[in-house]
Formats: sequence, structure tokens, C-alpha cells
Amino acid sequence: MQPDAQYISTRGQIDPVSFQDAVLMGLATDGGLLLPREIPDLSGQLPRLAALPYPELATQVMLPFVAGSLTEAELRVLVERSYATFRHPEVTPLVAAGPVHILELFHGPTLAFKDVALQLLGNLFEHVLAKTGQKLNILGATSGDTGSAAIAGVRGRQGIHIFIMHPNGKVSPLQERQMTSVLDANVHNIAIEGTFDDGQHVLKEIFNDLPFKQEYALGAVNSVNWARVLAQVVYYFHAAFRLQAETGCAKIQVSVPTGNFGDIFAGYVAMRMGAPIARLILATNENDILARFFNTGVYARGQVFATSSPSMDIQVASNFERYLYYRVGQDPVRLRELMAEFARTGRIVLEPGDTTIVADAGNQAQTLATIATYYRDHGYLLDPHTAVGVAVGERFLDPATPTVCLATAHPAKFPATIQEAVGQDVAHHPILDALADLPTRCTVLPATKTAIEQFMRDKLGSL
Ligand SMILES: *Cc1c(COP(=O)(O)O)cnc(C)c1O
Repeated sequence: MQPDAQYISTRGQIDPVSFQDAVLMGLATDGGLLLPREIPDLSGQLPRLAALPYPELATQVMLPFVAGSLTEAELRVLVERSYATFRHPEVTPLVAAGPVHILELFHGPTLAFKDVALQLLGNLFEHVLAKTGQKLNILGATSGDTGSAAIAGVRGRQGIHIFIMHPNGKVSPLQERQMTSVLDANVHNIAIEGTFDDGQHVLKEIFNDLPFKQEYALGAVNSVNWARVLAQVVYYFHAAFRLQAETGCAKIQVSVPTGNFGDIFAGYVAMRMGAPIARLILATNENDILARFFNTGVYARGQVFATSSPSMDIQVASNFERYLYYRVGQDPVRLRELMAEFARTGRIVLEPGDTTIVADAGNQAQTLATIATYYRDHGYLLDPHTAVGVAVGERFLDPATPTVCLATAHPAKFPATIQEAVGQDVAHHPILDALADLPTRCTVLPATKTAIEQFMRDKLGSL
């Protein structure tokens, strides 16, 4: 018998909750982020785990985190259902390309790595809602990628509706069609008349309308949900085991193109659990707050630049607080002081003290050059986000420790950048090519709280 998993807040001001409650809560009610009270140590089980196919590995890695909320058999069913939608038998296959290995995380329904987490989250939500008899209405605002992966995660699921706002005419036609071509009755695409920031603003207003939020059981699928991090821990083990088998190395290192610090935090958890990973390489684009932090100890808000790797165009990383919690020795009082200081001044400073994460920033020119070089010399086409991770990863190569670079999107999602980099229109995927002919459904609305709430009432009926 596993002891029940308990979750605490980084800010230390909630009673411990179960895995199930942590998933439904998303953000902790004291404003902090949820973390397991204990990170399980799997270092004694590595030979047994190394032999497992992806879904069974996922079940075994996640099991101690869900104990008390899901049985092993329940978890296995949810995991198998989540990864049956992936188009590759290995789920996240590892491919050699030049001096690195690429872990392809983009074989899910929307060709983005966010599918790894959101497919599982959708199944978890459905399972928990069925058990408790609750309903959930997800509301989100997207500038592109997250919206389609969230929709793909919950389409057709019992007890859930999803409303996703995107700025009308301001997301790429491909990304827009990935969302609006989903015709399931529980999926509601809204094109708001305004910008992405207008969408964020309305979203905040509606979540602050507590009577509405309560009556309509509003929830979010944002990147701070613990289940998203947990699902991502698995592929770090998978990558290490595959590369150990191939090269006989003792440990690997992993380069992670980073925005909100979710993906790389999953790697940090995997290391703390005993995965054979020597260090993580944090790669940012010009939005380099995290690279600056790991090189100088100063975490200071900067200006946001638009780049060819838009999912990394982030200054303040929403999952960073989880990492900070460990950096201050799991001391919630110190953590609260730091977060308050950052909110007040936009800047905090930490002593150096972690050699398990190294970091650097790539830029636009390096991204394009890396895509071109890998295509020409190694016959491998990188998406722009992956290319940032490869460009930075190459600066940290170590002959004794093979390097895995996480591939976070399929290149066909970013055809204009690929064309610019290699001079030809070579990035295609049949799923994306087929989108042009599919019927779509979407409602255009003003970017106001009243209009969006009325639309939701009309769709959901009075509850
Ligand atoms: C979301 C995303 C990232 C960044 O992941 P984080 O967990 O926010 O660090 C990188 N690449 C792509 C393609 C993404 O969609």
C-alpha cells in the first residue's frame, strides 16, 4: 500500500489536500502553487522501470503522486486512454540528429508537446467529475497553441464544457483552424473583437465575478495545474532510459526550450526522484529573464519581445515559484517574502546554489541558422522552439553525457519561419494540410464580460 499523496502550497497557508483536490484546485487558495509534500524517490527501481513501455512507465512514475485518489488500475486506464491518441507507438520517440538526440513530444492530436499533459488532464477531469457528480466549465484565453491542445484534451468529455477566446483575426490561420474545426457540442470557440491582452483582461474579470464563477463551476487549464507538470515528468525518465540503452551512458543531460518553466520544472522533479539526468539546460529566446537568473542570481522582469518562438515569449514564468520553493530550502515564509518583494519591485536576488540547471539565451538569427544547419547537414527539420533548445544545448555538449533536446512542436505548425530558414516550403503534416477543407464553428463577440457571460449562459442554460 502506498501512503496517500498530500499536496501543500508553496506559500504554506493551506491544509494539505489530496491529488484529486489539487487537480481541481489548479492554483492554491492562498495564491501559491501546489506541490507534493514529498517527492518520491524511485532511484532504487530504475532497472525495473527502464524496461517498461511508455504507458506503463507513466503509470509507475505517477502512481505515488496519485495514491489515495486513484487506484493503480484506474490510473492505468486513464494513462492508456490519454496516449492512445498519439500517432507514434513510442509516444515520445527519441531520434538522433547530429551531435544531439531529439525527444519528439509532438505526436499528439495538435502536434504540440502540450498534448502530453492536456490529454491526461482531460481524462483526469472526466474521471473525477464522474466520481463526484460535479460539472466543470473551462474558460480560457489563448494567443494560439495552448487553446487547441486544451480543446483536444476535453472535446467530447462528459461533464465538461470548454470556452476558448482567441483574438479575432490575430492568431495564425493554422492555429485558428486547429481550434474552430473541433465541432463537438461541448467545445465553444469565441473570436473576441480585440487583442490577446483584451482576452486576458476579460478572463480575469469573469474569474473575479465570484457569484458567476460559482454558479457556473468555472475552471481553468493553465500551466500551473500540478497534473500538467506530473504528466511531463514521465518523458524525462523515458528519454534517459532509451539513451542509456542505446549508448551505455550513466546519465544524460536535457536541453529544454522554456517559457513558463513548466516543462523544465518537470525535469527538475524527475531529477529529484532519481532519474539518471546529470543536469538540465534551460534555453530561452530573447525573453531571457530565466537565463539571466541562472547566470547572475538576479530575477528581474524585462520587456516582452515578439519572436519566431512565440510560446516562449514570456517574461514572468508562472511555474518558477515552484522551483524557488526548493531553492529557499522549502521555507514558505522566505518564499512569501521573495514573492512579495518581486511583486513590489519586479526584482529579487538569490545566492548561487544550484549546479543542476545551466542556462543560456538564443536569438532569432541563431534559431534560423540552427534550423537551416540541421535540415541541410542532418536531414532533420526543427520547429523554431526546438531550434532554440538545440542552439543553446550545443553550447553545453559533454562527451561523457549525451544531450537530449526536447522537441516541443512539429515544424509544420510554423511554416513561415521554416520557409525563411531553409528557403523552401518543406514543413507539412497531413493533419494540418487537411484543416483547410474542414468545416468550422466560431462565434465573434465583443471583448466584454457581459457579452461572454451571456454567451456562456445561453450555451449552458440556467443551472
Ligand atoms: C508551451 C511551449 C513551450 C514552453 O513550455 P513551458 O512549459 O511554458 O516552459 C515551448 N515550446 C512550445 C512549442 C510550447 O507550446
